[in-house]
Amino acid sequence: MNREENLNQLSNKDKIWDIAVIGGGSSGLGVALDAVSRGLSVALFEKADFAKGTSSRSTKLLHGGVRYLAQGDVFLVLEALKERGRLIKNAPHLTQSQAFIIPVYNFWDRVQYSAGLKIYDYMSANLSLGPSRYISKEETLKRMPGIEPKNLFGGIVYYDGQFDDSRLALSIAQTADHAGACILNYTKVTSLHKNDQGKLTGLNVQDEISKKKYPIQARMIVNATGVFADKILQMDNPEAPKTIQPSQGIHLVLDQSFLGGKDALMIPKTKDGRVLFAVPWHGKLVVGTTDTLREKAKLEPEALQKEIDFVLETASGYLTRKPTREDVKAVFAGLRPLARPKEGSTKTKEISRSHKVILSESGLVSITGGKWTTFRKMGEDTVDYFPKVTGLNLPDSKSQDILLHGYSKEIAGGHWKIYGSDAQKIQDLAKENPAWAEKIHPDFPNIGAEVIWAVRKEMAQKVDDVLSRRIRMLILDAQAALDSADKVARLMAEEMDKEEAWIKAELEDFQKTASKYLIKT
Ligand SMILES: Cc1cc2nc3c(=O)[nH]c(=O)nc-3n(C[C@H](O)[C@H](O)[C@H](O)COP(=O)(O)OP(=O)(O)OC[C@H]3O[C@@H](n4cnc5c(N)ncnc54)[C@H](O)[C@@H]3O)c2cc1C
Repeated sequence: MNREENLNQLSNKDKIWDIAVIGGGSSGLGVALDAVSRGLSVALFEKADFAKGTSSRSTKLLHGGVRYLAQGDVFLVLEALKERGRLIKNAPHLTQSQAFIIPVYNFWDRVQYSAGLKIYDYMSANLSLGPSRYISKEETLKRMPGIEPKNLFGGIVYYDGQFDDSRLALSIAQTADHAGACILNYTKVTSLHKNDQGKLTGLNVQDEISKKKYPIQARMIVNATGVFADKILQMDNPEAPKTIQPSQGIHLVLDQSFLGGKDALMIPKTKDGRVLFAVPWHGKLVVGTTDTLREKAKLEPEALQKEIDFVLETASGYLTRKPTREDVKAVFAGLRPLARPKEGSTKTKEISRSHKVILSESGLVSITGGKWTTFRKMGEDTVDYFPKVTGLNLPDSKSQDILLHGYSKEIAGGHWKIYGSDAQKIQDLAKENPAWAEKIHPDFPNIGAEVIWAVRKEMAQKVDDVLSRRIRMLILDAQAALDSADKVARLMAEEMDKEEAWIKAELEDFQKTASKYLIKT
């Protein structure tokens, strides 16, 4: 992906894009991918970095959602299981099967969870990642040495998918870009254009780095801005009612030794009726999440103290070594773009988590809600509106068979896995300069060549882009990321031909961002 080349495409004022997408999270990228699979021309604008919003802050599970099954949302679960299977096939370098263990404390728990998970297995059909089964107390303790043995009856093992969310976003962006889409980060949509009939004809976009503005013409405009969807709906119609209710979920990152083994812990019912996961990920343990209504949509939401206490307290109930604030390597918060509940109700848990496509009178198509797991289907359902909005024919979607950027049958080991077929190219790059072969931080395997690669091939513009979403150090260990920032900024500055002032400004910016991922003890 080359940002300059893509920006140059915007200078052609006569060009009419079939689809202009606002938002570079999983939803917008899913739209771009599906559109290129049908031969449409697409431009995608992301005001910050790809997946800077909710799409880099998920629990990183590709799942049908066992809890949605318990809520009777069978259609949502079936759809997600199908998409889970497709994604594992199309992006094996960014996904994997993960075993989960539900600890059970009595015979009734065993019967109840076993039955539910058998239905889940059955619904997965030929896309199942493995059958669920009951295991004894001894086996549960052997597989998860950190689990509290007191009153434990046994465990139920089941399988779901796991992935690297921001890396997957990047891979989708690269796939769409290579197929002809014009994909751009740091481009903010500032206004919409309409004709005399009040129908949308295009938009204004600003390059957030050069501050240059571009008028864009498009046949269909998609609002895929997640928790920010109402801002675009109101840009289209100042009278538009609010449709989104942000609901915050936080995760704490601990040392993996708190649980031990390779399996993930799934707690199906916490004190307040939620699900809590503790999942091994990139050598650490990601524990979450919460469900807290928030009024404002923010790109960098902050965890509340009560959310941190809740996660620590709940995890402590299941672990022999009780984690404290001092043990937390990083905390990250994300906002779910839930459909706003009807007047009078404030309970987001009751709202269906399935996605919704809204067609406004102006022709604006908004895609809201949903899950990372179903991003492709969400894209397909959105692009299906093209004939209705434009009156033009639409070829069938082929996105379900597209192999995503980096796809390879031979997957590299260790931290190189996420790069797929690019892994060898980055290792070759490291041979060109001794500084690029050096580690960025002594506790992490990442090397300088990954920073250079992120700038050259992955459109990284800022230190945060590299440390947070190209390599995941910020959410794995916020202090390590802070300690690495100077090295990363200098590598980037040399590659991007930037001065000392740029380095200083970047470091100040990153310090501000990273402070939100550190826990005050
Ligand atoms: C705590 C938590 C855990 C989750 N866990 C899972 C999970 O394990 N598995 C799963 O499948 N799903 C999970 N989800 C759901 C999933 O993460 C979200 O559904 C998905 O990421 C939403 O993506 P999005 O593209 O709609 O929104 P976002 O990722 O927020 O993207 C919207 C983008 O629009 C951009 N934007 C806004 N305004 C403009 C503008 N004017 N111009 C240009 N760009 C603009 C923003 O910068 C942003 O990047 C989780 C969600 C949360 C909150």
